[in-house]
Amino acid sequence: MDKTDAPQHSQTMIDTLILGGGLAGTAAALWLADLGHGSTIVEARPRLGGRAHACPWGDAGLEVDYGGGWIRTDHAEMIGLAKRLDITLIPRAPIIQHSHFRDGMWHADPAEDMAAHDAGLTQLLADAKIMADDTPASRALHAMTLQDYLTHRALPPSVVREVLAWWSISGSAPPDQVGVNEYLTPKLAKGLLIKLEELAFTVQGGASIIPQEAAKASGADAVLGDAAERLEDRGDCVQATLASGRKITARTALVALPVNTLSQIRFTPPLTPAQSRLRKLGHQGAAIKLMIRAKGPSPGHLATGEALGLRWIYADRHLPDGSTLLVAFGLHREVGEPTFAMVQTTMAAAFPSAEVLDFDWHDWINDPFARGTWVSPTLATLPDYGPQHWAMQGRIAFAGSDLYSAEQGWFEGALQTARTAVAALDLCLKQNG
Ligand SMILES: Cc1cc2nc3c(=O)[nH]c(=O)nc-3n(C[C@H](O)[C@H](O)[C@H](O)COP(=O)(O)OP(=O)(O)OC[C@H]3O[C@@H](n4cnc5c(N)ncnc54)[C@H](O)[C@@H]3O)c2cc1C
Repeated sequence: MDKTDAPQHSQTMIDTLILGGGLAGTAAALWLADLGHGSTIVEARPRLGGRAHACPWGDAGLEVDYGGGWIRTDHAEMIGLAKRLDITLIPRAPIIQHSHFRDGMWHADPAEDMAAHDAGLTQLLADAKIMADDTPASRALHAMTLQDYLTHRALPPSVVREVLAWWSISGSAPPDQVGVNEYLTPKLAKGLLIKLEELAFTVQGGASIIPQEAAKASGADAVLGDAAERLEDRGDCVQATLASGRKITARTALVALPVNTLSQIRFTPPLTPAQSRLRKLGHQGAAIKLMIRAKGPSPGHLATGEALGLRWIYADRHLPDGSTLLVAFGLHREVGEPTFAMVQTTMAAAFPSAEVLDFDWHDWINDPFARGTWVSPTLATLPDYGPQHWAMQGRIAFAGSDLYSAEQGWFEGALQTARTAVAALDLCLKQNG
């Protein structure tokens, strides 16, 4: 047995070994420290933050969010954590203009026939309300993919375009694979059709500051650039084996990894059947978020519709050099590999007076430590996300925004699942001396 293989004495053993230094893992380290428990974070990348990833972009002189960026007003955990860490949230520019792409051009109105368009929107709201209750009609809708739903309701093309535009920032997966419940949410049932209104804040300096500061404040040790490959629950302790061959033993473990990367870890004992299914099949979230720098557009201009796969473009803010930062979303399947020519053509239609300077993005889908954007469960795997399947077993707890929570997929979901996991870890640590 090599020296690190042997369980250490309990007084020197790490309380919790956290696999994954994203928002869920780092917030958990902080909240464990609040309860008097020490932790070590193992992170595969050379940086903390995971899908909260801001870095300086070219000579624009500003940190931009390549991953998650927006925080909603009702995201209490996220706002509370920023406040605790003394991090400033910046209000998003109000929408001053909304243009719609149809018939090869951009228009002020989403449809020629606005009466039919409004009737279609009313239908969406009615269906979202039905889906909020448990009735046979609701269950029938819950069994439909977005594509089935659009066919079944025969909504006007203008409504389909709007749905698909918002889908690129909500469902983020091929519409024929993921349930319409990703779009027809209880929030929509309350009439919040323009979801941009909900995305109220960004983080000054970029969203990754929050996990970085949380880790610092927790006092946790961080092992960076070394991926976990194996996690074993030995009954009286847990042991992780990292890519470097290093072994780390702890009293408990928290797995705070993206669902689509779980297949890279060998668990002993093996995961439960529901967990193994998800580990094998993963989720389908595969959006593209492009950052575009252009001269001309005024912050607050939103363009939705379909133009070369980019369905949603928002002029976010002025950069220090006077240019404007725009954020565009589309589905990976439709956009493919973004090119400057494609961005220019799209922008020429959406923002005719704009001069495109540059664009950039991060490929989260082929990123080995994400393997997708934000979670988008297929209908077949939806039940496997249930919290009962991911409750703490033995000495291993799970967290992360991909798992089920009221705010699944959002920063807030990462924090909600971390809260639940920390309570379970605390109990386990107290019960086991
Ligand atoms: C393009 C994009 C836009 C988004 N927009 C928003 C938004 O506006 N608002 C919002 O609320 N949310 C948004 N999200 C979602 C949000 O970013 C995520 O839900 C959240 O950051 C996930 O946090 P997490 O800790 O659960 O997972 P992650 O941030 O993915 O953290 C998991 C960590 O585990 C690490 N890891 C992976 N494999 C291993 C391994 N084998 N060993 C050790 N470490 C490993 C990863 O490197 C990562 O650091 C967006 C996401 C993307 C990609």
